[in-house]
Amino acid sequence: MTQSKTWSGKVALITGGSRGIGRAIAEAMGRRGAKVAISYRSRREEAEEVVDRIRGVGGEAVAFAADLTTSKQADALVGAVYEYFGSIEILVNNAGITQDGLLTHMTDEMWEAVLAADLSSAFYCTRTVVRGMMRQRFGRIVQVGSVTGVIGNAGQSNYAAAKGGLISFSKAVAREVAHRGVTVNVVAPGYVETELTLTLSERVRTRAAGWVPMHRFATVQEVASAVCFFADPLQSYITGQVLCVDGGIAM
Ligand code: NDP
Repeated sequence: MTQSKTWSGKVALITGGSRGIGRAIAEAMGRRGAKVAISYRSRREEAEEVVDRIRGVGGEAVAFAADLTTSKQADALVGAVYEYFGSIEILVNNAGITQDGLLTHMTDEMWEAVLAADLSSAFYCTRTVVRGMMRQRFGRIVQVGSVTGVIGNAGQSNYAAAKGGLISFSKAVAREVAHRGVTVNVVAPGYVETELTLTLSERVRTRAAGWVPMHRFATVQEVASAVCFFADPLQSYITGQVLCVDGGIAM
């Protein structure tokens, strides 16, 4: 395990850490020596696997179930992490879903579900966690956004609104907490190899990859590496930024 003194002992809460990008972030932070708490909505077995993998290489990890579309469960999650580890230095708001459809076919339910899972969840978790970060005068908040929130995407007006909102939310919070040693930044991935993109048809995947200047989807490790850049305790003078990890889509 490649531990770093600056990461050692820092507690990282990663929402949606049971699979995909969140899992890669959890494992990358665990390797750096952080104590890792992950949350999941329903897939307990996958979450326990992530915990076992981190513990298996000598790290500390724990998983909690929480549906982050309600502030009650978000507050309970943060309370559970405090009880288990005693503090939170790093928060990664990664949990999210998509429910795509052209605007004329988008139902109220599709709109509300995506806004709740991708934007309100980050608001609830950030609001609770930032109090402790301001008190301890140290914190790293990293939002997992999307390049769709930067440039838009047909068929994803709900997701674009949520991820675009996440960027503006982060910049506002970054201004509120900068003087307390808390940074807030956004990593905005393009297409990434996860379950979320595996649901796309082969035809759509090939067309999408062709549209990316690098002609391929990102690996989850490539996204995790950018998240770790912002979360690094030594990365103390960058805040309110959006970093696209998108193979060149948004340049
Ligand atoms: P996955 O679908 O693989 O994983 C989503 C994670 O979020 C799971 O851990 C899931 O828990 C959790 N989750 C979903 N809904 C809720 C909820 N209501 N409350 C709490 N947890 C929830 O997603 P990805 O890894 O692909 O995506 C992670 C993030 O990256 C998302 O924010 C996504 O928008 C963003 N992103 C992904 C891209 C991609 O191409 N994959 C591209 C750009 C951005 P459980 O396992 O229990 O269901």
